[in-house]
Amino acid sequence: MTVCRQCGRMLLFDEIAVYRRLIYRDAEEYLCKSCLAQYLKVEEQEIDKKIEHFKSIGCTLFQ
Ligand SMILES: [Zn+2]
Repeated sequence: MTVCRQCGRMLLFDEIAVYRRLIYRDAEEYLCKSCLAQYLKVEEQEIDKKIEHFKSIGCTLFQ
């Protein structure tokens, strides 16, 4: 089980993928969507949009 390194919440597959896509591909620790949004100073919705975007372009991290 993988958890957010900041709040300890269990991570979804998409959250890990978007973290790797946006921050660091070879990361071994991740942030959940909420903490990642805070970290990037954007709305959580923006993270959802990015997830949808990366899926729509067929990013292999999301498969
Ligand atoms: Zn978190």
